[in-house]
Amino acid sequence: MAERPYIVGNWKMNGTRAMLSEARAIDRAAQRHMKVEVAIAPPYTLIHAVHREVEQIGVGAQDCHPGTDGASTGDISASMLADAGAKFVIVGHSERRQGHGESNALVRDKAQAVLDAGMRVIMCCGEDAKTRDAGKAASFVTHQLKDSLPGIENAADRLTVAYEPIWAIGTGNTASSQDIAEMHREIRKLLIELYGEEQGGGVRILYGGSVNPENAREIFATEEVGGALVGGASLTADSFMGIALAAGDMLDN
Ligand code: PEP
Repeated sequence: MAERPYIVGNWKMNGTRAMLSEARAIDRAAQRHMKVEVAIAPPYTLIHAVHREVEQIGVGAQDCHPGTDGASTGDISASMLADAGAKFVIVGHSERRQGHGESNALVRDKAQAVLDAGMRVIMCCGEDAKTRDAGKAASFVTHQLKDSLPGIENAADRLTVAYEPIWAIGTGNTASSQDIAEMHREIRKLLIELYGEEQGGGVRILYGGSVNPENAREIFATEEVGGALVGGASLTADSFMGIALAAGDMLDN
């Protein structure tokens, strides 16, 4: 477990202003558990409102455009997100890579735009079931990451990697502790190769894929797991903070 575990909620395409009460409840609970870093990425439309309502938790976005401004109808730039109160952006989520055909090169450009706008990056990676069944998960993920990550100074502060096997997202199936540990070790090796022992060694690697309050303890007990990126279970304060509390308990034991 990382010195300060990082628990991030990805609300995806969920949430109207009625969800602000949930954000406030998450924030209140996070104030009682400061040893865990808690953040949520609501949809674009709620970033500013959540930012204004909360005191403790981080607020971020789920994607951005790689450019700074201009004629790109319907897109949002990293600096616009920072202006709305975002402190980080998730890039390379499999729902973007698969559903919107995002290449590693585009994901890298988005990550660079996030860093240029002074925010932190959460870089997602993960293999599909076919790749895992073919025994190619580790080489796929390391290549995907290598091609998606920009050069970063102070990577330990500015970058988080989220390993999210696609077959585990929203399915109720989680990867085994052994599979998570093996993949996180590979990712750590790559981060040290790219950013050096100190910086690469300090980047938190999150696990994502059907994490809930019931399975969180076992996942957090796994080697090299620095927290979780949580989809479905982040939509209510009760289940999301159940996960954050499990991370806090690991620090105490
Ligand atoms: C995600 O999409 O980042 C995710 C981990 O979703 P879920 O927790 O619902 O599997």
